[in-house]
Amino acid sequence: MKYQLWNNFSNMADFIKNPLIITRGEGSYVYDKNDKEYVDAISGIWNVNLGYSRTDIIDFMYEKSNEVTGVSLFGRAHQIGIEYANELLNRLDNDFDAVFFTTGGSDAVETAIKISRSFFYHSGKQEKFKIAHFENSYHGVSYGALSVMGINSNTTGTGPMLPGSITLPKPTSVESSDIHWELIERKLNNENPDTIAAIIVEPIMGAGGIIPIESIILKKLREYCNHHDIILIFDEVVTGFGRTGNLFAYKMHNIRPDLITVAKGMTAGYAPLGGVLVSEKIYELFKTNDIVFRHGFTYGGHPISCAAAYKTLRILLEENVIDHVRQKEELLWKYLLDLSFEFDLVQEVRGKGFMYGLKLDSKFQGIAKTVSVKAQENGLLFRPAEEEVVVVMPPLTSDENVLKDIYNKLQKTLHEVSSQFIGLR
Ligand code: PLP
Repeated sequence: MKYQLWNNFSNMADFIKNPLIITRGEGSYVYDKNDKEYVDAISGIWNVNLGYSRTDIIDFMYEKSNEVTGVSLFGRAHQIGIEYANELLNRLDNDFDAVFFTTGGSDAVETAIKISRSFFYHSGKQEKFKIAHFENSYHGVSYGALSVMGINSNTTGTGPMLPGSITLPKPTSVESSDIHWELIERKLNNENPDTIAAIIVEPIMGAGGIIPIESIILKKLREYCNHHDIILIFDEVVTGFGRTGNLFAYKMHNIRPDLITVAKGMTAGYAPLGGVLVSEKIYELFKTNDIVFRHGFTYGGHPISCAAAYKTLRILLEENVIDHVRQKEELLWKYLLDLSFEFDLVQEVRGKGFMYGLKLDSKFQGIAKTVSVKAQENGLLFRPAEEEVVVVMPPLTSDENVLKDIYNKLQKTLHEVSSQFIGLR
């Protein structure tokens, strides 16, 4: 059969030689055309948080689609969208006042950037337009989001980007948080904080290599933003909806950002959806001054997607999925730590909840990709991240058997890959 589908972030020549075509999924497992079973250690693309083939979500989407489909949010609304927005914000103790729906993570980031610039424009501070982000960050691929991309290989050949993008240093294992903050502050001060509209940060960097940002740094960012009237955006596209063992990571740090971007786990992969959670201060300016935010997407907040999100949130809460993550995170952590003791190739384990990265020895360029390819042969699905990191992010509903299966298959894979390299066990 001809293969004319152009995949995302894929080397097509390689893929066509050895295509992985998934035909069905069940729980934490997927199956290919030959019915080979794979344990999905990255929950689709970090989004299938409740596993595959949940008929309760599918049935609810069907039920809601029988009421109405295709109603946009352009000058009108639909019931399930309103109910979901209320339910979500209520569960977050009304820390936020409104949700602006999008279709995914990149356009959520796009929207957050636009809200930030627009907020200062309408506040009479047109000089505030710059957006700061961290080295190694990943916030999406559309041009606004790409302009705050901290992974350089993802922007090569596609410039120029939006003007006013500032890159802040990522944390490194050799420096203290004091030094890290000093470097961040110096960079921000050099840019003149009066020209900065927003700072965007992933509480745990994902694609950049599973790099947690320390609580103290997030706190200092909050203080800096307060002091200089800068909007603080947390990108919780990955960390949101239970991934870290908290409904959202900001709750764990007890720091309230002004905007939060969400997507991925929002619908557990059952439909496309994203959004921006907006704080009272920002929403009020638009609402009370009759300002039309001239922005929106035909499919942003589609009723069937909102139905999927509504049911996903209910399941997260009613089935105590977040408690399950908290109970099992130590087991997953221990398995990964054991692998780091067993294999010299594994230098560090980092992360939280069901979101980990195994940092492999970067002296072997491409090693994370080699491990991912080998793992696939062994029935284990991964994608490598930056800095030679293998990401482990199983569905949040994964039980002990699934975690053990990931451990066994990863151990076998690391054994096979290590033996290819002299001097490594
Ligand atoms: N933000 C973060 C932190 C992400 O990891 C991603 C995607 O991986 C995005 C934004 C972009 O989301 P999407 O792929 O839905 O556009």
